[in-house]
Amino acid sequence: MSSLIPSVRSPLEDRSSGFLLVDHHYRIRNADSIALYLLEISNFVSASNQVLPDWMIEIIYKSQENFTRSSDNSFFQDVIYSPSQLWIELNVFIEKEVIFIYMKNLTPEKEVGSKIQKNHEQLLLLAEAANHIIFNEEPKQMLDALFADLSNYLELDVYFNYIYDPNADKLSLMNYAGIDSKTAESIKWLEFGEAVCGTVAQVRTKMIVENIQQSEDPRVQLIKGFGIQTYACHPLLSYGRLIGTLSFGSSTRSTFSRTELELMETISNQCAMAFERVFLITKLKATNQKLLANYDKLRYSENKFTEIFNAAHDGIIVLDADSNIIEANPSAYYMLGLDPSYLISKNVFDYCEIINLDKNIREVTLLVWNGLKKIFEYSVTNKGTSGEQIIIFRDITLKRKTALELIEAKEQAEQASKAKTDFLSMMSHELRTPLHSILGYSQMMIDDEIHQLNGIQLERATKLLKSARHLMELINEIIDHAQTESGPNLMLTDINLSEVIEDTIKLIEPMSKDKNITIENRIKPSCIVIGDLIRVRQILTNLLSNAIKYNYNNGRITIRSTLEEKKNQIKISIEDTGIGIPQNNFHDIFEPFFRIYDPLHNIEGTGIGLTIARNYVSLMGGEIGVDSKQNQGSKFWFTLPSSQNK
Ligand code: ADP
Repeated sequence: MSSLIPSVRSPLEDRSSGFLLVDHHYRIRNADSIALYLLEISNFVSASNQVLPDWMIEIIYKSQENFTRSSDNSFFQDVIYSPSQLWIELNVFIEKEVIFIYMKNLTPEKEVGSKIQKNHEQLLLLAEAANHIIFNEEPKQMLDALFADLSNYLELDVYFNYIYDPNADKLSLMNYAGIDSKTAESIKWLEFGEAVCGTVAQVRTKMIVENIQQSEDPRVQLIKGFGIQTYACHPLLSYGRLIGTLSFGSSTRSTFSRTELELMETISNQCAMAFERVFLITKLKATNQKLLANYDKLRYSENKFTEIFNAAHDGIIVLDADSNIIEANPSAYYMLGLDPSYLISKNVFDYCEIINLDKNIREVTLLVWNGLKKIFEYSVTNKGTSGEQIIIFRDITLKRKTALELIEAKEQAEQASKAKTDFLSMMSHELRTPLHSILGYSQMMIDDEIHQLNGIQLERATKLLKSARHLMELINEIIDHAQTESGPNLMLTDINLSEVIEDTIKLIEPMSKDKNITIENRIKPSCIVIGDLIRVRQILTNLLSNAIKYNYNNGRITIRSTLEEKKNQIKISIEDTGIGIPQNNFHDIFEPFFRIYDPLHNIEGTGIGLTIARNYVSLMGGEIGVDSKQNQGSKFWFTLPSSQNK
């Protein structure tokens, strides 16, 4: 049959209908050229008496039972797709003698129709794609929906969507279909130039690969492994910037038609725009979030500022470039003696007059609205671009007054103290001169071998001498005390504590020997303190002599030192085995002239030694204290700065 395909077919294509006359043995009796063409018979000579082709007989025969019979003829109509690949409409009239067949070539209409149908389907697909792209904000949902539509139409089995990750400078598989998640994990990252998608990303043009299963190209080996036959990969570009790639593959088809490829490319371009839109929306959302957060922060700080502004004890006013008041806080109203209704939008100098201004120390004396003269400390911010300035001011009128009063009081106190010191010095001098005579003469009387005193006279003279000595001691200590109060005049040096103690022990040796008291110096020779040597010696003398005075005969005194690391001080303690001190007197004994009444022991003293010791210790930056148990002994201690870490 195919050998009969006429070479004249194309010029006849436009002509559409012909007729055919056959007998009941299906032999051709008559036919026009169109009928011959449709039957693929080259000319009538060879057609005459030729039996109809089998396909035609078969159709006529098979359909005979459906013939609509009338009394004398039958009519049948059908449209078939002939072996010559033409669409033919057959109108068959069965007469008694002959069968008349009217044939119409529908192929051109059919082709146009199928093209229209195809175009229509593609348009629908594109409309559907646009729908997915516009309404899906999630790329995955969008691509999955697109793929579902496309795969039906184009017999697709897989799609891969790689996105460019600028941090890794690689492509990352974001969305896919047609492979399992484990496989997806294994192809998660692609380098530029790697496989088909990597190559497309590198060269930024689409790549269509066909007959993959027969290909040895190393770039297609990856998809070959997935059983893909045809593959189309497109770069996703937005304004020249690479977003990623989108590829579709089919395992059943060996090629895609030109229109199908165009369709996939159009959809890929739309996807690129959709991705760009999604990125922009994500960016916009993030920016919006940031703006909202900043707005909240701004509102918070504004509220805080308003609270500070209203609660501040200092006056705060905001002035415009012409010194008109824009804002003022409650303290400002109060300090300037104003009602809140006054201040705003008026010139600040309407309400106060400058009496004195010292810009160096930022102090101004103002005559304020209610007529009071006030002194203010102030600070001014720099003028902003709008010329606005903020003035912060504080009323220091009272502070100034108090400071002046304090200076006056201090001067008065100093004068009084000087008068007291002068008086004491004068008195001591006046008292000591006659006292020296009393001491000298009574000593002479006792020692005179020529005019020897009798028993009662010697006893009285000895009492006189003793009382005079006591008086002298009292006067000396009063002078010492007066001197400590008249102010510090220290000479601070490094002092070897052990050495000073040894010297002091020697000085008081007669006293200790009298009572047979053992003194143990446990201070290390390396112990160095910072202090005034004369005063340190005085403190030690006072404490050691007390430790002897208030000790029992054959008693013991132990002197120790410890380092108080935190304060970098040395603590010196003098412990005796004497009569002790009741706890409620621990504080009193450091007060001037305080003595514990003790008729049992009746020990002489002035009550000034510990006061002097306390004053000296505090002058040198230390502390003094006592711990004691009655009849067991006392432990006096004081601290001085250590020289070790200075
Ligand atoms: P004075 O010893 O001249 O009386 P102080 O000021 O040195 O004056 O001492 C005040 C008082 O503290 C003393 O009168 C005494 O009662 C008590 N006192 C001081 N040192 C000791 C001590 N080591 N043991 C017991 N009592 C003491």
